[in-house]
Amino acid sequence: MERSPGRRIVTTEYSSRQSRVGELLNAGGFDACIVLGRENLRYFCGFTGTAGVLVLSPDHRLFLTDSRYTTQARAEVVADEVREYKVQSDGLIAALKDAGLKKVGFEGQLAYSQVAEIREKGEPDWCWEMIGKELQNLRSVKSAGEVAAIEAAARLNVEAFQDILPLIRPGRSEREIALQLEFALKKRGAEEKAFDFIVASGARGALPHGVASDRKLEAGELVTIDFGCRVAGYHSDETVTLALGEPQPQAREIFDLVLAAHDRALAAVAPGVALVEIDRLARELIAEAGYGEFFGHGLGHGVGLDVHELPQLSPRSTVTAEEGMVFTVEPGIYLPGRYGVRIEDMVVVTAEGSRRLTSLPKQFQNLMNP
Ligand code: ZN
Ligand code: ZN
Repeated sequence: MERSPGRRIVTTEYSSRQSRVGELLNAGGFDACIVLGRENLRYFCGFTGTAGVLVLSPDHRLFLTDSRYTTQARAEVVADEVREYKVQSDGLIAALKDAGLKKVGFEGQLAYSQVAEIREKGEPDWCWEMIGKELQNLRSVKSAGEVAAIEAAARLNVEAFQDILPLIRPGRSEREIALQLEFALKKRGAEEKAFDFIVASGARGALPHGVASDRKLEAGELVTIDFGCRVAGYHSDETVTLALGEPQPQAREIFDLVLAAHDRALAAVAPGVALVEIDRLARELIAEAGYGEFFGHGLGHGVGLDVHELPQLSPRSTVTAEEGMVFTVEPGIYLPGRYGVRIEDMVVVTAEGSRRLTSLPKQFQNLMNP
């Protein structure tokens, strides 16, 4: 396997991503677009540093960076030309003037102060339009290489979780579990944790984003652990809810309901199915049991270079599942002051249906009575 994280994706793949941007630009009558966000830079030209600008026009690809990154950029960036700047906005303005680029698309990572500066120092007839969402959309469908990286991150989840499973016991703190899980993931080769892990026990389980606290786990309660890691730039994201003894009857009831909603939505994932429909299948089951108001978030989200990216699965989704899309299915029920349950898996849409990428068991598990 390739060791260098930037080299998992081959040059031709970057070129084809760039031509898809070219089609987008032609369709919108743009002369060029500028890409600044770290994940987009990595996706569209292979750059893994932190400061750079990609100026993509349908027939030319220019990469600009400062002296810290020139050598790295020449080695990893797929572009026609790499140029160095001292001040980013000056370098960008000069490049746009040189090439006579007037109608330019940009993404939200461009700070308002930079926009103002470019307006002031640039040509009066320049026309700038946001195309961030369109660029993000191009990342929704993953290549085989991308899916392989996501799967590698998901495999580390399983291995690291097995390492720390004995720690999930009454008396241990949420923070200790989160720390040991992060350590186990990194020890096994993860580049970074995917986000601040959620370890939410007892009544804290009702906080959908209850980042690990000093609270100690207690017998008889549920604990929700939402975690993931990054491999070769790509993320895993997975949630398990476990019991530390026999839970209260209502806690068990909502567990079974969330699991049923999760299974029902997962079974429906296939190319051509509207994401709003997948969301509805889970939401309907929860609502029919009387818990609709306690499932307040969308069913899932795309995962890739960002942990949260397009497409979104929610009652507002307008997108249809396509082969190669990778997203989560994560229904939850949160009863304030009492307990909460969330169960999350990642899937890739395949030609026939879908394949689960995360593989920790999700069925009811009482850790005190294995
Ligand atoms: Zn998650
Ligand atoms: Zn998630």
